[in-house]
Amino acid sequence: MTEKLEYFMREALQEGRKALPNCLPNPPVGCVLVRDHEIVARGYTNQPGADHAEAMALRQISGDLSDIIAFVTLEPCSFHGRTPSCAKTFVSRKIGKVYVAMLDPDPRNNGLGIALVEQAGIAVSVGLLQAEAELDMGRYLWKTE
Ligand SMILES: [Zn+2]
Repeated sequence: MTEKLEYFMREALQEGRKALPNCLPNPPVGCVLVRDHEIVARGYTNQPGADHAEAMALRQISGDLSDIIAFVTLEPCSFHGRTPSCAKTFVSRKIGKVYVAMLDPDPRNNGLGIALVEQAGIAVSVGLLQAEAELDMGRYLWKTE
């Protein structure tokens, strides 16, 4: 099962690469939604003010999402910036489960996105293919210096 999980996260990383350069200065995040071991929707970060990866993928699916597993390369945003919070969208759409490759060091997020989803009773797993996600997105993420 681990191999299958890694396969889906790798597909999400591939989606994220499609985001560049239009997504900047937002990080190039990718997302795939999986139902019954099949990818049923894909998304990546659009230009600022337009859909984040999660919103783009969720837009492709209607109805009950309780049997959907989301694979996202970066922690979903907890805050409403130019677009609605993706963490809150996962909660309101009642997604089944979420795999996240890495936390978002942006101080407005930094674990808050994970907490929002978990507090709603949705299982979240962080760290799947984290090293690969850091290679892809590290230079685009919030920096302390
Ligand atoms: Zn977002």
